[in-house]
Amino acid sequence: MSDNDLIARIRAAARQEQFLDVVSAEEARARFESHLDLTPLGAETVALAGALARVLLYDVVAAVDAPPFDRSNVDGFALRAADTIGAGDSAPKFFTLNTEVIASGHAPALEVKPGTATTIATGGVIPRGADAVVMVEQTELMEQGTPRIELRRAAAPGQFVSYAGSDIARGETLLRRGARIGSREIGMLAAGGLGHIDVVRRPKVAVLSTGDELIEPGRPLSPAGVYDSNGAIIAAAVAEAGGEPVSMGAFPDDAAALEKAVRRALAESDMVVLSGGTSKGAGDLSHAVVSRLGKPGILVHGVALKPGKPLCLGVADKKPIVVLPGFPTSAIFTFHAFVAPVIRALAGLSPEAAETIQARVPVRIASELGRKEFVLVSLIEGEAGTIAFPTGKGSGSVTSFSQADGFLEIDALASSLDAGSDVQVTLIGSAAQAPDLVIMGSHDVALDVVVGELAERGFSARTLAIGSLGGVAAISRGECDVAPVHLIDPASGRYNVHLVTPGLALVPGWRRMQGILFRPDDTRFEGKIAAEALKVILADPSALMVNRNAGAGTRVLIDDLLKGARPAGYANQPKSHNAVAAAIAQGRADWGVAIAPVAKLYGLGFLEVAPEHYDFLVAESRRDRPATRAFFEALRDHETRKRISALGMQPADD
Ligand code: AMP
Ligand code: MG
Repeated sequence: MSDNDLIARIRAAARQEQFLDVVSAEEARARFESHLDLTPLGAETVALAGALARVLLYDVVAAVDAPPFDRSNVDGFALRAADTIGAGDSAPKFFTLNTEVIASGHAPALEVKPGTATTIATGGVIPRGADAVVMVEQTELMEQGTPRIELRRAAAPGQFVSYAGSDIARGETLLRRGARIGSREIGMLAAGGLGHIDVVRRPKVAVLSTGDELIEPGRPLSPAGVYDSNGAIIAAAVAEAGGEPVSMGAFPDDAAALEKAVRRALAESDMVVLSGGTSKGAGDLSHAVVSRLGKPGILVHGVALKPGKPLCLGVADKKPIVVLPGFPTSAIFTFHAFVAPVIRALAGLSPEAAETIQARVPVRIASELGRKEFVLVSLIEGEAGTIAFPTGKGSGSVTSFSQADGFLEIDALASSLDAGSDVQVTLIGSAAQAPDLVIMGSHDVALDVVVGELAERGFSARTLAIGSLGGVAAISRGECDVAPVHLIDPASGRYNVHLVTPGLALVPGWRRMQGILFRPDDTRFEGKIAAEALKVILADPSALMVNRNAGAGTRVLIDDLLKGARPAGYANQPKSHNAVAAAIAQGRADWGVAIAPVAKLYGLGFLEVAPEHYDFLVAESRRDRPATRAFFEALRDHETRKRISALGMQPADD
């Protein structure tokens, strides 16, 4: 590339050209659907064994009865109920046994005449003349002479008989069209004698990802590489919506190569779904490719939604073609809102009914004016009803959609949702059962060990990582049972005790050694103690630090170490130990303060500074609940403590 080309590219990227012509979600859907035929695709006949998860194209009418004949429900004797009238302990009745035994699968040959009975097995065909069955246990076989039985109890007509068609009646509608075939449906179809069945042809949906940074899961991650998670989640969501995903993989940001792939996808499938290549800076690559594919082309480019603004909906050769935003949460959100309904319709499935519940938001949620905003939430059963806690990690998050219980909407005209607002939450997937224990606060890998042990004891837990301060606020509002915290009181230098207020107690957890992280080849640190190393780097303007966010316990320690110094990099303030370690490991910074286990995880050097106390605030009112007690038993368990130590923490003695 010549210098001029490079400069032109930098200019274009810096201008962040805005191509979007934003419309509302309703308008977007209407435009898209007006160009689509949403009737189910045609029929395909499949063998019953291959019918699982398919969708019935027609109502299925039973061609046979089930059971196909009157059938005995027990091992016993078929006879005439009228012959048993008056039978009792003082007046036993006797029946001569006919000379056949009716086993399953064998048609009876002899008629049951008055005063006789025929031996019959469970599932046997009731013979002509008989109208009831008596259980073998209620009879006595006469040992002498012709085989006879003695009966001391009367039988009602129909006793222990299942009549033909009582389960499935010939001519009855067994299953309705549009039904998704599960194991139970397969059982019904088999009982109805069907070996093959007409199902809706599954729409073939080509799934493509775009981005120079994308790497196929399973391969090693290159510097600046990101795993192609959209490709995997979208293909799976296509299958869940009743489609047949055709995973085409990830393509670099190259218009010619992408266009070739998209044209092939369009020729070979019923629908094409791309993700990525949507950001304004990147020149809107996917949009440009789709705009060249054919009539009517792009119908919508830009929807007033958050997440999901750069969504692009189009139709070419009568086939829908969609470009989802690259950010994982945006991609999956817009997939469910705009793409899944189309796949379901083509697959013959009815629209998914959205299930909603009422809840209250405990914190203020800021929102962008002019865009309808969807906020992912976790649902918690609080003392005063259901609480919807925003879990959003931003639209770049892969986990926020999969871990959320539902989402709430903030109107385009609102700039925030106030704390305490009542909202309607649309549930995602099947509503999870309320957990036995709610843990909200700071997360730590050793917490996963305790929660694992708690699960062994039969209790489920929901953990929301909202930081120490968030945990303190949540437990004071009665939203959780346990709040893991690690906050130092700058006045006393002691951890966590200052957080205890009436109604709360503090249970010691473990100690995490904090120290200075550096790349092992960096001679400014190697072999020194922390105080010496600190002196060296504070005198070295080329030593770039990575700080922590205000409010973090570690930040208090850092400020204490720096004693007012402001080394280069001080303003870089990520929110986790992992982010600090990643910045140093990848050379974006030279040193920072984090906990020892994280240094080890990233292969970094570590100079001890001071232990941090990771403890648990617990609501006194909930302390005696079985799940809370089990949690603290799990914490004190010998095996748990060993595993916490193995992670590099010191369990507290209490
Ligand atoms: P783009 O729309 O290509 O500008 O992408 C926006 C953001 O989403 C970038 O951070 C991308 O790395 C990320 N992204 C794009 N495609 C994928 C994908 N298939 N899997 C995971 N992240 C992606
Ligand atoms: Mg990209």
